[in-house]
Amino acid sequence: MYCTKCGSQMEDDDRFCKKCGAEVGAAATHSRQSLEKNVALAVIGSAIIAGVGQLYLGKIARGVCFILVSFLATGIYMGVFRIAGMEDPSLGILSTGYAVTMAIVVAIKIWSMIDAYKLAHKYNDHLKKTGTPPW
Ligand SMILES: [Zn+2]
Repeated sequence: MYCTKCGSQMEDDDRFCKKCGAEVGAAATHSRQSLEKNVALAVIGSAIIAGVGQLYLGKIARGVCFILVSFLATGIYMGVFRIAGMEDPSLGILSTGYAVTMAIVVAIKIWSMIDAYKLAHKYNDHLKKTGTPPW
């Protein structure tokens, strides 16, 4: 067989390449698989709270952004629409402000889910090709 990193020929039962020292063969495949991210888990995480899937995938700043934007949207509703008295609080979930806020929150959530799905695939593809995580 050949080293997946430098391409030099090596014995079939060699675990490490003699030339470049890369770990190849069954052991390397196994350790690589354990690093792979669960795509479904990432999407479900972001479905529960936008940004959680990104945090799971190691995209911390991106995940935090999603969480902040969601809280910001809710905060704007609470602050502007309710406290500033731009809307009749007795309307509750029937109010326009609530509907708009919920639409924004759901849109952020769907965006976060699609993003988590794409990121998880990108992560796993990169891992399969190079043996290392992309970020
Ligand atoms: Zn090598």
